[in-house]
Amino acid sequence: MTPKSRKAKALERLHSRILECTRCPLHLTRTQAVPGTGSADAEIVFVGEAPGRQEDVQGTPFVGGAGKVFDGLLASIGLSREDVYITNTVKSRPFVGPPPGRNRSPTPAEITACAPWLAEEMQLIRPKILVTLGQVALNQFLPRRKLSEVHGNPQRSDGVTILPLYHPAMARYGPEWTAILRADFLKISKVMSSQSRT
Ligand code: URA
Repeated sequence: MTPKSRKAKALERLHSRILECTRCPLHLTRTQAVPGTGSADAEIVFVGEAPGRQEDVQGTPFVGGAGKVFDGLLASIGLSREDVYITNTVKSRPFVGPPPGRNRSPTPAEITACAPWLAEEMQLIRPKILVTLGQVALNQFLPRRKLSEVHGNPQRSDGVTILPLYHPAMARYGPEWTAILRADFLKISKVMSSQSRT
């Protein structure tokens, strides 16, 4: 077995464990848990907040409205989903109201319960660059950092480059947000090419 397929197999085993997770009450209301998707050998990992309704139904991160925006941003820098790994801070959908309910942000307790899964994904994949999408994902790696102050600016933490970006869902607030997202996404290519020179 090649080292590459060992890594892919280990990731599959991790995903199976995530699918069976009962560490927080969200397991009682989800359709299914949503582990990450993409290449075990990815040099770029994207981390969002939590699955929404479509993600909960389909079992894949970023396949709803925000996912369409995300795919467009990825394509704008010449990448596809197969080139990267995409996951969330919390793996089960938080929502309020009777099902299907409205999406909500995860609570600190839900984030803490889910943190070991994200840590295991990162340890296995060991990306060169970790792109956080939104404030929740940023604070999982850099606890007190404010997204409005650091978006688009690479940060170093524990030997990895973290690039904090706004969440693609911000595009719903108008074209000026789309422009910020597009400009920030271009930084991914910049960081990657500066890393390949070092
Ligand atoms: N928003 C997220 O943060 N993650 C998803 O998977 C979908 C929407």
